[in-house]
Amino acid sequence: MAPLKVLICGAGITGNTLAFWLSKIGYEVTVIERFPGLRLPVYKLIYEGRLPFDATEERAGYIFGIYAKSINQSNDYAEVTFSNGAQELFDIVIGADGQGSHTRKMMLDDKGLDDIPRVDPFQPLGAFAGYFKVNGDCRKGEGYDATMYMATQSRSIMTRRHDPHKYQAYLFCNSSSSERLNAAKKGDIAEE
Ligand SMILES: Cc1cc2nc3c(=O)[nH]c(=O)nc-3n(C[C@H](O)[C@H](O)[C@H](O)COP(=O)(O)OP(=O)(O)OC[C@H]3O[C@@H](n4cnc5c(N)ncnc54)[C@H](O)[C@@H]3O)c2cc1C
Repeated sequence: MAPLKVLICGAGITGNTLAFWLSKIGYEVTVIERFPGLRLPVYKLIYEGRLPFDATEERAGYIFGIYAKSINQSNDYAEVTFSNGAQELFDIVIGADGQGSHTRKMMLDDKGLDDIPRVDPFQPLGAFAGYFKVNGDCRKGEGYDATMYMATQSRSIMTRRHDPHKYQAYLFCNSSSSERLNAAKKGDIAEE
């Protein structure tokens, strides 16, 4: 029997992990990522470990710089049209493209075979978070604690020590506080 053909939209930690396991059990996996490459700066900061991508790269097909434009489902397969115009049939399509998933929106918009309208469970609050590390030695008596300052207009800042010589800083704000910030999500990593 031919292996199941799986399309994973998004090469974040979820997409890479799924690609790792599904290709390991013999599925034919293709991962598409909207960005031209892995968004490594973010993942290196967050996970600081080996990505499943390193182990999966040779087993699954990765295509960067494209996304699914439409998905048409039937009883037997899903027909996907990509942003580069190509079309392909898959047995399973998985949206691993983050919390604002475009794939999920397309699936919800498609009333499917039962013709029941679906509601997107994701209701964004407009909150943005920035994360970076700061060099700074642990002071005498200082614990590995998190400290948070809550400001007005949905703004806050948190620091959290994880290393004797460095600590993490998180900045939170609401997109309504700045037009540029609101537009950044449609821009690239530099703009973010
Ligand atoms: C500031 C901050 C700090 C965090 N710190 C931690 C932490 O310390 N530890 C922790 O475990 N988690 C942390 N998280 C949470 C963690 O980042 C997320 O839970 C995780 O990234 C979710 O992974 P994901 O693969 O589901 O989605 P994402 O990381 O959002 O990945 C989605 C991928 O899909 C791509 N994509 C988007 N749209 C499309 C499309 N239409 N087609 C194809 N590809 C697409 C994106 O470019 C991206 O590569 C933090 C999050 C933030 C914001």
